[in-house]
Amino acid sequence: MYQNSLKFNHLNNRKQIMTTITSRLQAVRDRIQAATAAAGRPPDAVRLIAVSKTFSAQAVREACQAGQHAFGENYLQEASSKIEALSDLPLEWHFIGPLQSNKTRSAAGLFSWVHTVDRLKLAERLSAARPNELAPLQVCIQVNVSSEPSKSGCRPEDALALADAVAGLPRLRLRGLMTIPELTSDAVLQRNRFAALRNLKEELVSRGIELDTLSMGMSDDLEAAIAEGATMVRVGQAIFGPRRPR
Ligand SMILES: *Cc1c(COP(=O)(O)O)cnc(C)c1O
Repeated sequence: MYQNSLKFNHLNNRKQIMTTITSRLQAVRDRIQAATAAAGRPPDAVRLIAVSKTFSAQAVREACQAGQHAFGENYLQEASSKIEALSDLPLEWHFIGPLQSNKTRSAAGLFSWVHTVDRLKLAERLSAARPNELAPLQVCIQVNVSSEPSKSGCRPEDALALADAVAGLPRLRLRGLMTIPELTSDAVLQRNRFAALRNLKEELVSRGIELDTLSMGMSDDLEAAIAEGATMVRVGQAIFGPRRPR
């Protein structure tokens, strides 16, 4: 009897979590669709990357059952066990965390995308370590548009030279630019930061660099990012719920 009610509770909780992830995911999709329409952009202009850092493999599995296939992770060790545990699913993994040069080997084998390339040495190592049996690693150059000294990302004035060098690496495919602006409740400042990344992308394209991706916007600012041309938004807490400090 006791056993039975425990089991019942367990199933009930699982179902509850699943319903929550499914409905939150739908709410995020609705927000993306509304922002995309408001900007006069095509309905499929923005891809959603579900940021699963600190959340369980089971949470990812449930998001997958609700139709989500692209996931973002920040920490290599956490990511590698999750990716392994979910290898039965058709998932596309994006690395979006700070990357140390001595960790490039495992990142180059685990992910389809790395969004956080901010120096040439990192790009060269990723290219050298990308396994031959995999397609070229898709990368974005991370740019610090807020010019905060503590943030990672290259300086805007260094982006052209870096992009040009990265585009020439054999096992990488340069796709675009990524940014994480400073947290702010100032909506105008928020828009300006995203606009700065869009303008930089347009400038690089006018100089002959092929780019089709702007990775910008998270749970709290995806509308502003989409209004300024984001093609990928990286959303964690709005899908999986509040994150506990790590
Ligand atoms: C954690 C993280 C996100 C997602 O942030 P949320 O506030 O959970 O939406 C997006 N991008 C990067 C680089 C992150 O580290």
